[in-house]
Amino acid sequence: MAGRIPQHFIDELLNRVDIVDVIDSRVPLRKAGRDYQARCPFHEEKSASFTVSQNKQFYHCFGCGANGSAIGFLMDYEHMDFIEAVKELARRSGMELPTTEHSNTTHNPGPDLHPIMQTATHFYQQQLKQHPEANKAIDYLKQRGLTGEVAARFGIGFAPPGWDNLGKALGNNKQGQQQLVTTGMSVAKDDGGQYDRFRNRIMFPIKDHRGRVIAFGGRVINKEDNPKYLNSPESPLFHKGKQLYGLYETKQALRQIDRLLVVEGYMDVVALAQHGIYYAVATLGTAVTHDHLQPLFRTSSEVVFCFDGDRAGRDAAWKALDIMLPELKDGRTARFMFLADGEDPDSLIRQIGQQAFEKKIVSAISLSEFLLQNLSQRVDMSAIDGRARLIDLARPKLAKISHQVFKHMIISELANRTGMSGAELTSLLGEKSITHTSSKAIARSPGNSRKLSPVRSIISLLLEQPQLAQQEPDPRRFLELKEPGINLLVELLELIQQQPHIHCGAILEHWRDRPEGKHLNKLALSTHTIPSEGYKHEFQDALRHLDKQRIEHICNQLLHKGENSPLSSQDKIRLTELLNRKQLLSRPLTRNNDNEN
Ligand SMILES: [Zn+2]
Repeated sequence: MAGRIPQHFIDELLNRVDIVDVIDSRVPLRKAGRDYQARCPFHEEKSASFTVSQNKQFYHCFGCGANGSAIGFLMDYEHMDFIEAVKELARRSGMELPTTEHSNTTHNPGPDLHPIMQTATHFYQQQLKQHPEANKAIDYLKQRGLTGEVAARFGIGFAPPGWDNLGKALGNNKQGQQQLVTTGMSVAKDDGGQYDRFRNRIMFPIKDHRGRVIAFGGRVINKEDNPKYLNSPESPLFHKGKQLYGLYETKQALRQIDRLLVVEGYMDVVALAQHGIYYAVATLGTAVTHDHLQPLFRTSSEVVFCFDGDRAGRDAAWKALDIMLPELKDGRTARFMFLADGEDPDSLIRQIGQQAFEKKIVSAISLSEFLLQNLSQRVDMSAIDGRARLIDLARPKLAKISHQVFKHMIISELANRTGMSGAELTSLLGEKSITHTSSKAIARSPGNSRKLSPVRSIISLLLEQPQLAQQEPDPRRFLELKEPGINLLVELLELIQQQPHIHCGAILEHWRDRPEGKHLNKLALSTHTIPSEGYKHEFQDALRHLDKQRIEHICNQLLHKGENSPLSSQDKIRLTELLNRKQLLSRPLTRNNDNEN
């Protein structure tokens, strides 16, 4: 992912933004010594273990281990993906993103696939008007009460029966054929040919946030055809778990969006719009994911999730609730609406009309109500045991909620139901959660740098004070050593030498997608017990240690060689030199011979 944006842009970006500003505007920080602190936004805590270092341009939490750069913070806190976080920071600092923003996942951008999707949309729309067999599709839409106007607004079309209608119309050259396969519009055959994926279906174009068609959903016309709904497969344009059908159309239709209704299918969205409810979006048949929540709540502060009233619907709602708990913030409202068994929004709105349907939306139960209702149903509330069990069941859910007001609301409701006082319950829940956090905090508390191996110690010092790298002009000689982490160390030294002003946060971004990144992150957390004036000394001390190891390694090789055959006079001179050098390196380092190397 990081490959899409040049690393030098990210370096420059992180050089311009200040992580303290970025975080402080979201989580108010207070100065504590050299650093800034706050109560951690990523876990529940009473004291502030969330620390932001302006020097390192890096945040970390000793309680839960959360850490990263300004980019990482936005990704975690705002649930942005990497590109979104970079864009947000670029916007803040007035930098222009160097890449055009089509397709946000592939490393190799390739040709723009949007035009062919647009052409496909036109093709299907045209077929709905012209094709001799379109009658059945038109009948179906009419029977559903859809007017031409709504069909046009959603760009609904018709994929005629037959294996190569779209292929013939759009894939008349190699590139077109390839693009049809890449976007999933055609299916490649083993013999090299290809055929239309969507045949004899009503076509619903799925648009991204800018209104560009990125995929299709196709509904059967003949009842006997399978599957009833067919979506485009994942492609460079389309990622199922992220996309919301109808969100773009909602934004087009309404200036102010007070509420979003989340339903399952595109026909529900279209039918609701036909009846004047323009704020419905669909998850395209997948469960509600974490990735859905960001665009939903960014569009509207109130989101009502509509589920089937059956067992499967309740289970899906419960999963959605779980995903939502950590996302609850001020001003966000999530509610749940359950339909009667066998009903869907499409059939229901046609039956009862807009007003009655909206009444149902308004009376949807709140998230907290659903949570407690569901938990209470699992225990015998008339027994003391049952009420105790309810508290046990509620605890892990409450632990996921970071929003204090909301949490207290649920606790007081829980107190009501269990007949305990709010204070009693808070202390009961709180006590558990404090022991839990503090034991975790101790387990994760980073060790001090003196316990680290020389390689790790050097890396951690470099992350703290990158300019130390200037002390080591020839890092490549350490590559002879087979120490763990040595390649990483050399690469790090070279990076800093090329960019003397880089800081820890930006350094870590260079390793974001690499396995060594997590070691670097851990080392960035190391606290040094020495005052910062001593870093240089400690740095050189560790380098000397490595040099000694390196010389020992070469000496051993030479001595080993000498066991089998007499050493050449050249080897002997080398060995003497090395042994002298080793002895020199073994002398304690004083503050004055800093540059001896
Ligand atoms: Zn934390």
